[in-house]
Amino acid sequence: MAATSADPGSARPHWRLVIHGGAGVIERGRMSPAEDEAIRAALHRALDAGAAILAGGGAALDAVEAAVRVLEDDPHFNAGRGSVLAYDGHIEMDASIMDGHSRNAGAICGATATRNPIGLARKVMEHSPHVFLSREGADQFSREQGLAQEPPAYFETAERRRQWQEFQDHPGAGAFDIHLKYGTVGAVALDQQGHVAAATSTGGLTGKRWGRIGDSPIIGAGTYADDRGCAVSATGAGEYFIRVGVAHEICARLRLGRVAPQAAADAVMEEVRALGGTGGVIVVTPEGDGITSFNTPGMYRGMAGPSGRSVAIYGDED
Ligand code: ASP
Repeated sequence: MAATSADPGSARPHWRLVIHGGAGVIERGRMSPAEDEAIRAALHRALDAGAAILAGGGAALDAVEAAVRVLEDDPHFNAGRGSVLAYDGHIEMDASIMDGHSRNAGAICGATATRNPIGLARKVMEHSPHVFLSREGADQFSREQGLAQEPPAYFETAERRRQWQEFQDHPGAGAFDIHLKYGTVGAVALDQQGHVAAATSTGGLTGKRWGRIGDSPIIGAGTYADDRGCAVSATGAGEYFIRVGVAHEICARLRLGRVAPQAAADAVMEEVRALGGTGGVIVVTPEGDGITSFNTPGMYRGMAGPSGRSVAIYGDED
């Protein structure tokens, strides 16, 4: 499944924002009208936050962080508040952010208390000598940076506890059961200066064990941005996205070849599928293309530019 932004016939847009809220078995009939409405409203709020920055001439990096924060705060998504529960019933959050202009990047995994993990990833990028911090160290750095901290009860929702119980009751289903719906969030943007950026945030997979880290916080797998190629944020069964190096692979194909952005994204998602993985990506290019590509029945997604916006959930919408 794929979709490309249009702005048909007009000059290239001066800015572009694409967001996702996870991919999986998201089908009509599985979701109540109220849930459908709440998710679309949250996607619109995230677009509002990022688009206001981009339309005002702000930086792509600020726009992707702002959009992801909105989705982290919304309990419908598997990031920040509403994160899924690990095997032991606790929440461990992963996030990453990358600036395509400088190719600076920041990432964290296994964070337990930071209200907005994407803000922590950005602090790692801008206020530490490192790119990637984990677990206790990430939590400690977060406190030292003065970021808002929350108790476990803030992050956990009744629905995530129910899903965790379902996972425990059906151990045969496996960690990659796409009925678990994922729900990772991400954003990619092009700003009016021609720079791209990408951000991704997640609670990971329900029932993850042994300090498991997915693709979302791994620069090159779940997130990548390079002004010479594009910006990418991924969602799906992380182990497959790591093995394909999805985000960097799409960027590299655009940087090195004369391949169309949609074709590059689709080809890399086909590699994920061929290995057995499901999920999707969002892509923005320095030319203003906004692209989605996914091999699941649905992906929560939204797109905005100077000439309008769209929000979609199911595979047959666009
Ligand atoms: N990619 C995430 C992970 O593997 C999960 C997701 O996107 O829903 O941790």
